[in-house]
Amino acid sequence: MLKATKIRIYPTTEQAAFLNRQFGAVRFCYNTGLRIISHRYQRHGQSLSAKHDIKKLLPVAKTSRKYGWLKEADSMALQQTCLNLDHAFQRFFDPKQKAGYPRFKSKRGKQSSYHCVGVKAGDDWIKVPKLGPIRARMHRKVEGRLKSITLTRTASGKHYASLLFDTEQAAPEPIQSVEGNKVIGLDMGLSHLAIDSNGRKIANPRFLKRAQQNLKRKQQALSRTKKGSANRAKARLLVAKAHERVANARHDFQHKLSRQIVDDNQAVIVETLKVGNMMKNARLAKHIGDASWYGLITKLDDKAREQGKYLVKIDPWFASSKTCHVCHHKRDAMPLNVRSWECPACHTQHDRDINAALNIKHQGIIQLKAEGLSVSAHGGLRKSGTSPAAA
Ligand SMILES: [Zn+2]
Repeated sequence: MLKATKIRIYPTTEQAAFLNRQFGAVRFCYNTGLRIISHRYQRHGQSLSAKHDIKKLLPVAKTSRKYGWLKEADSMALQQTCLNLDHAFQRFFDPKQKAGYPRFKSKRGKQSSYHCVGVKAGDDWIKVPKLGPIRARMHRKVEGRLKSITLTRTASGKHYASLLFDTEQAAPEPIQSVEGNKVIGLDMGLSHLAIDSNGRKIANPRFLKRAQQNLKRKQQALSRTKKGSANRAKARLLVAKAHERVANARHDFQHKLSRQIVDDNQAVIVETLKVGNMMKNARLAKHIGDASWYGLITKLDDKAREQGKYLVKIDPWFASSKTCHVCHHKRDAMPLNVRSWECPACHTQHDRDINAALNIKHQGIIQLKAEGLSVSAHGGLRKSGTSPAAA
């Protein structure tokens, strides 16, 4: 089983300067590869592959006088960036992912570099090729064989290392019979981060909202500064720091929430892809971006897998909001401002989001059974009307 951990590292001034060149070399290879591929296609209609054609250029470039400086960087990192560029193109060509054309990497944003040969980690240090040990803060010991280290530098200048370990233990056997009351459906709400099928509405925490307000203020301050001025550079750094605080707060909250949901349940059912569709709607995009549904799903998936539990993703065509979970009557339309409704067929009163979460749960149970698992009875259907948790 693979386990990842991310730690803060503290390179010395010289090490930071070396890392800066390392990041620069990685960025150069990515951007140059992208430029060559785009140019070749526009001028000659030829499709080059980053994985094959661009990667092959690396040794050639290193022997040239102009690009000889690339030799100074860890060669695995440069090869990996070609693979990353290849993935970016794969995402672009995959109609399901709706990804845009790969973009150039900026030297102002987050930098990263991947190392997988000659990497080591100790109690308070890590080691990557061509550089002495870098001081690090390990917050928990991971047992196993270190497979790779990805170094990153944030826009505000902090350095991190993501360590990937092979625990050399087999993943736990997936649970074969799931208890119905340990299946939970989650709906992505607009007013809440998530609403579960037990009637619990999970809001984004206050500290996250505060961090977001702070970010907004800093962004406004940045927009008031003059282009190219020293004040603008300062304001940009403040925005970068505020951004990082928001991202850290969100990750932290999502980790705790997903840990609790996975520990308490055996299967978690979510709706996917809706995000991609809704993002097109500019007004909704902010809410959804804030809620960062996607990040939560990824964390739920990782944690469920570690315990042999399930994360089931429901197709977006499933009309979770429009269907009555009691009698399955499907309404034609369900405008977003309708928060509660009465089923015209069975007259059950529904809270919009809880009803959706219950539908998602039942749809997930159908899918689990279709995959050959046994799901025990779940003690009847819960009413989606009023519940203490919702209140
Ligand atoms: Zn009904």
